[in-house]
Amino acid sequence: MAFENLSDKLQSAFKKLKGKGVLTEADINDAMREVKLALLEADVNFKVVKEFVNDVKEKCLGSEVLESLTPAQQIIKIVNQELVDLMGGTNSKLTYSPSGFTTIMMVGLQGTGKTTTCGKLANYLKQSGKKPMLCACDIYRPAAIDQLEVVGKSVNTPVFTKRDSREPAKIALEAKREAEKKGFDVLIVDTAGRLQIDEALMDELVDIKGTVKPHEILLVVDALTGQDAVNVAKGFNEKLGVDGIVMTKMDGDSRGGAALSAKKVTGKPIKFMGMGEKFDALEPFHPERMASRILGMGDMLSLIEKAEASFDQEKAEKLEKKLKKNQFTLEDFLDQMGQVKSMGGVGKILEMMPGMSPAQMKGVDLAESEKEFRQMEAIIQSMTREERQEPNLLNASRRKRIAAGCGQPVSKINNLIKRYEETKKMVKQFSNPKAMKRNKMFRG
Ligand code: GDP
Repeated sequence: MAFENLSDKLQSAFKKLKGKGVLTEADINDAMREVKLALLEADVNFKVVKEFVNDVKEKCLGSEVLESLTPAQQIIKIVNQELVDLMGGTNSKLTYSPSGFTTIMMVGLQGTGKTTTCGKLANYLKQSGKKPMLCACDIYRPAAIDQLEVVGKSVNTPVFTKRDSREPAKIALEAKREAEKKGFDVLIVDTAGRLQIDEALMDELVDIKGTVKPHEILLVVDALTGQDAVNVAKGFNEKLGVDGIVMTKMDGDSRGGAALSAKKVTGKPIKFMGMGEKFDALEPFHPERMASRILGMGDMLSLIEKAEASFDQEKAEKLEKKLKKNQFTLEDFLDQMGQVKSMGGVGKILEMMPGMSPAQMKGVDLAESEKEFRQMEAIIQSMTREERQEPNLLNASRRKRIAAGCGQPVSKINNLIKRYEETKKMVKQFSNPKAMKRNKMFRG
């Protein structure tokens, strides 16, 4: 997971502040020194770090923080906002042509993952209801054309090639005409890569850009190359002008320096990140969510999106009605657990929960919590329908019988009932906005 070490270091710096109550200027200076070191260790560009820390410090020394009853929280809030701004503010979406046909040009050095990303992008666009076509413009390496054809097959997207042509701009233009004629609505142009930026490559890309007039030029860079990736991005942007960055291999990058510096250094936002080799491992880049994850505040939005994807509207409405009548039964509890499963299991959810940093995740025994879930399921399934509907019926002797039925000690049954009661209370609060406001968990 990206930002693992940075996340650990920042959180440990803030933990020290939290323990203090009232903060002095010296406390803030100490904390900022730690933040600075953490960012430098994460390979964030030196100038970016300096500016970031100065900005944060200036805001933290304002009276609002020092006089606040929860200064540490205020500081975390400031750092969070600065991290969001650093990574580009809000998420940057792709630009589509208003006339209906969009051309996207993919550029980048060899080995960064450009061809793979072409496939991932085609896959992503198809999922959003678009009809993409790919185009191979690398005239120097026949193997690159072969590779794009294989990629195209994997994501079920046609690939336009012209193996005998030596003019990439013409190939791209022909592909565009063909795609439009055949009713596709997006053309993704895979261009040639080199081991480093050179004049000939840039001239060729400028030529393609001038000929097909893309709506979007996406630069693919490899997060693992750290500041080199940022310098390459700067170079491409100065010579060609790009619209956005795709940061690949974020799944293997524990530092995160490139992702944190790219926007500030190049002025161009990261639009997507590559999170693995498979074609579904492309995610839109959300600065707010990234900042929250780095600070261990969880990624509630991604969690909610996941929940929505596996959300059963009908069941939810039924549950709402029951809640209104205060009838949250053990069957509903079981249903809720089923939903957790369909969201990718306890592990996936914990990862995105507030307070669960990558470091804390290491301490969680996932196998154990999954096992516990299965045990709870078995216990509820051993109850009669009547008991599931009316848990008050579960007196000592019935609990004993259930324990025997599912082969668990009575203490487990008691524990489950306790958790059910707690969930019931929480769910009730969720369904009552006034109560939610009163609960300090939800106050800002
Ligand atoms: P190109 O030369 O820029 O076209 O690069 P390729 O698309 O051939 O990718 C180079 C290598 O990087 C391949 O082994 C890909 O599977 C791998 N790769 C691409 N994107 C990612 C990513 O987001 N995560 C990981 N782990 N590997 C990736």
